[in-house]
Amino acid sequence: MLVKELRSESENEWQAICNLVDRCTMATSALNSRVQSLVSEYGVFWQFWPQFEQTHGERRLVGFEVELIGSHTSDLNHVDPACPTCHHVRSVLLAIAGLMPGELTLSRNSLTYNIDSHSNSIICLPALGSRSAVWVSIYVFLNRANGQSFETDLLNEIKTFLNRWGIHQR
Ligand SMILES: [Zn+2]
Repeated sequence: MLVKELRSESENEWQAICNLVDRCTMATSALNSRVQSLVSEYGVFWQFWPQFEQTHGERRLVGFEVELIGSHTSDLNHVDPACPTCHHVRSVLLAIAGLMPGELTLSRNSLTYNIDSHSNSIICLPALGSRSAVWVSIYVFLNRANGQSFETDLLNEIKTFLNRWGIHQR
C-alpha cells in the first residue's frame, strides 16, 4: 500500500514537472536534476538510425530516427502494456523528446520533427539481456539537402542535448 502511494505521488510530481516544462522552455536546475535521476533510475539510453530515400538510383539521407529507450525492471517476464510504471517511464522519455526541438539551435526551418511514443508497446531488447523496455522515437526530417556538415552538426547537437540529461548512446 505504501509503495502504491509513493508511486502515485511520484506520478503527480511528474505531472507537475510536465506542466512546468510546458510553461517555460528553460528548465530549472531542480527540474534538471529530477529528470537526470529518473534517467539513471530507468537506465535511459539512445540509439539512432539514419533514414534514407532512394531517388533516381541514388541514396539520399532524409533524416534520423532517434530512439529513447528506458526500462524499470529486470524481470524478464514483465510484459504488461497497462503497467503504470512503464507508462511513467514513457512519459519521462516523451517529456525529454518534447524538449528537443526547442533546444537545437540549427535552423528550425530546415527540420521537421515527429514524435512517436509507441504507446501500449513493450520491446524486449537483447542488448539489455532481453529486459522489457519502452521507447519513444523522434523522427528528425531534413526539409532539404543541407550538406554533410549540416548533418554532422545536427547529430552533434542531438548528442550534446541528450548528454546533458545524462542519456548516452548505446
Ligand atoms: Zn512496467
